[in-house]
Amino acid sequence: MDGRVDILGAGLSGLAAATILAKGGREVHVHELRKDSGARFDGDFQGIENWTSQKDFFDEMRDWGLDPEAFKSDPFSIVDLVHPDDVITNPITDGVAFRVVERGTAKHCIDQGFKKMAESAGVKIHYGVRKDPLDCDIIAAGPKQSSAVAFGEIFKTSHENHVTFQLNDKLAPGAYSYMIIIDGVGLICTCLWRKQRRSGRFLDETIAWYERNYELERIPIKRVGGKGDFSIPDRYIVDGRHYVGEAGGLQDFMWGFGMRYAITSGVLAARSIMGEVDYEKEVRGRLLPLVKASATNRFLMNRMGDRGFKAVAKYWMRDQRRSGDGLRFMRRIYEPGLLRRMIWPVARLALLRRGASSDGRRHLRMPFRKALKRDVWEPSMEAMEVSKQWKKTQKKGAKTSFSSSDQ
Ligand SMILES: Cc1cc2nc3c(=O)[nH]c(=O)nc-3n(C[C@H](O)[C@H](O)[C@H](O)COP(=O)(O)OP(=O)(O)OC[C@H]3O[C@@H](n4cnc5c(N)ncnc54)[C@H](O)[C@@H]3O)c2cc1C
Repeated sequence: MDGRVDILGAGLSGLAAATILAKGGREVHVHELRKDSGARFDGDFQGIENWTSQKDFFDEMRDWGLDPEAFKSDPFSIVDLVHPDDVITNPITDGVAFRVVERGTAKHCIDQGFKKMAESAGVKIHYGVRKDPLDCDIIAAGPKQSSAVAFGEIFKTSHENHVTFQLNDKLAPGAYSYMIIIDGVGLICTCLWRKQRRSGRFLDETIAWYERNYELERIPIKRVGGKGDFSIPDRYIVDGRHYVGEAGGLQDFMWGFGMRYAITSGVLAARSIMGEVDYEKEVRGRLLPLVKASATNRFLMNRMGDRGFKAVAKYWMRDQRRSGDGLRFMRRIYEPGLLRRMIWPVARLALLRRGASSDGRRHLRMPFRKALKRDVWEPSMEAMEVSKQWKKTQKKGAKTSFSSSDQ
């Protein structure tokens, strides 16, 4: 057996790396601050995208020796796309557009699936510990700072399995809201790409919108959320330490679909440590162009309000009518093609700020943008009812697993 490998963080990127290394015969130790894998999330649904590569992501996982059957997932080929003027259309594809997974500590969650894979491969995971990053070979500790946040409410519902994606600059400033329903449990979430005071009002108003437009019979269970860290470092390996997942700045700047980048970068770091590939080169060749394309899209999205969002939604549907495939639009906008490469130098200057991390890396970080005048509005009566209902639910013991210190 070759030398020991230490990994900081038992999330998706860390556990993907750990599994590959242990299967390759290494002694692997993962050090996790929290009590369990997935504890950062607490039962929210997330989508693993299937559009940044022609290859189905689960087939890619199988090729790497990771088992997508180790956790529950639900494939989707159609969504409700809500335009800013409340028109609803349906992007649709023949194959799998994305898969919904649950994040958290329950057995069927993706985090627990990755934990199971790692432990069966012989990885030793140490929970509830602090470890000096300087003593680790892989840093997989997730986001550090906030460039954006997402808030959601999990609820019981009688509605069938369903996904809605809504572009609306009032309910989700600069970003989008979504509703995911799986087996009688729903999540309504709003993403804030501009920093807000009293951010709970955005979630209340978003929930009120969904209640008006869908038969939900919603019974709130808990509220969840988290931050996203969007930065591009100057290096991915520092003094032998491999930075993976969000700790390595490998995130989707446009819409925050970071899971695929996290797992892929974990696998690449493991293979690099085993001498099979050069991590720095692989990230720069394979992931960084996608990150830059997403940052360019984010730069363009930041210039838009609802009129721009409407144009995007219309263009998406026109593209579907022409090609017969609603996923082609997503593939195209995430493609690091010539146009995005030409806009990138401007996007980089306008969107990102220079900084340095205590670990010796320099980076270009997307700051959390300030609120705009149009983000100040009075809540609707329905949103006030949603807020009251949540306060009552809280009194009965319902929890919010996200605090202002997380922002
Ligand atoms: C609300 C929300 C919704 C999202 N929705 C989606 C989605 O729909 N689709 C998608 O693809 N992505 C989504 N993302 C992004 C996705 O969750 C992340 O990009 C992905 O989890 C990053 O994986 P990671 O391995 O880098 O970090 P994580 O999976 O977060 O793992 C990091 C681990 O490191 C641990 N840790 C932190 N600091 C230390 C330390 N000092 N020492 C030891 N351990 C430490 C943490 O506890 C955690 O377990 C969402 C994010 C949020 C917040």
